[in-house]
Amino acid sequence: MNKKDLLSSLQREAIINSHSHHLHDRDHHSLNLDNVFRNSYVNWCHKPVPDGNSKDEIGLWLDSVRNRSYFLWLEKALMELYNIEEHLDVETWDIFDEAIRKGHSEEAWHLSILREECNYKAIFLDAFWKPGDDNGHPDLFKPAYRVNSVFYGYNRTAKDHNGNNFQVLHNQSITDIDEYVRLIGDVIHNKKQAGSTVIKCALAYDRSLSFGSGTREGAQKAMIDDPDEGDIRVFQNYVFDKICEIAAELSMPVQIHTGLGLMTGSNAMQLQPLIARNPNTTFWLMHGSYPWVTDIAGLAHVHPNVWADLCWLPLISPNAAYRLMHELIDVCNADRVVWGCDTWTSEESYGARLAFLEVLSQVLYERVELGRMRQCDAQRYARAIMYDNAARLLEA
Ligand SMILES: [Zn+2]
Repeated sequence: MNKKDLLSSLQREAIINSHSHHLHDRDHHSLNLDNVFRNSYVNWCHKPVPDGNSKDEIGLWLDSVRNRSYFLWLEKALMELYNIEEHLDVETWDIFDEAIRKGHSEEAWHLSILREECNYKAIFLDAFWKPGDDNGHPDLFKPAYRVNSVFYGYNRTAKDHNGNNFQVLHNQSITDIDEYVRLIGDVIHNKKQAGSTVIKCALAYDRSLSFGSGTREGAQKAMIDDPDEGDIRVFQNYVFDKICEIAAELSMPVQIHTGLGLMTGSNAMQLQPLIARNPNTTFWLMHGSYPWVTDIAGLAHVHPNVWADLCWLPLISPNAAYRLMHELIDVCNADRVVWGCDTWTSEESYGARLAFLEVLSQVLYERVELGRMRQCDAQRYARAIMYDNAARLLEA
């Protein structure tokens, strides 16, 4: 089988998508070209997306961002989804814009891209604007329950980076740590009952991922005194261990954002003590800890409760994803790797999938060519990452 045939065969496979922030129906209906970019990682390229009214502005912007991986895969996605042969340019801007508007004039277009074009059978949804939500489509979206606010509930005034406080969200005024831990347990139990399948922690945007072991007494101190940074750290360390215990009890993996974020202490290796203290908890370490991708391979080698969640990574850098996928095949069992798009729109999700399949097929093709993998094993491996591994969680 040549590389192209392998890629085509993978493109026909069903996928369970481990992580997405897919926008609500109403937000998709108003999409045009500049909104697609504004709700994409191209908007993270430190150059404001032009509104499409000035050709000079569009030209300068395209020259600046066109080489970026985020742009490349989104442009490919738009060209494929909307059957446009020309690349996006000053002259073709309006053609892309019109095609997107026309597509979304049909209400279910964004869902049909996910279901039919991407072949997603389920998508874990991190709706951080409404933690635990399924966007009104429970058949497709499986909620991830984001727990960031739990780490900021030591009083009623602290806030996580999304502006949330766990006590305020649940209308509580708790000053006793045991009572607080009971509340965490009750809330996560209820979320699981209501359909949440995974717990999501995105604290890499708030603090370092170094979680030492906190004591009950230390955590209590943060709740009654005016806490200093050290008290808050101890509280968060203690609370994370409690979340891990609850997650283990409920068989819910804990997805943790690693890598990009604050970039101070956000590499996955910082999590090693937490992972070692909680061997019964399954950790899905996300984004390949980019740029520290080897951290993931090392942790997966040593800790059987570590899974590599490759979401976002092929879109950030296909080269980094290529390196990590090769290493994971070397050092991590086939049943502990998953992938997700980590995007807000169907267009970018389709692009993320293109990037992922391109890298996966390249890696597997090379392995088969070198005689390090049989072709049947390469295809089985791909199916495990794309579907089977996440499916075991949904079937449990
Ligand atoms: Zn995400």
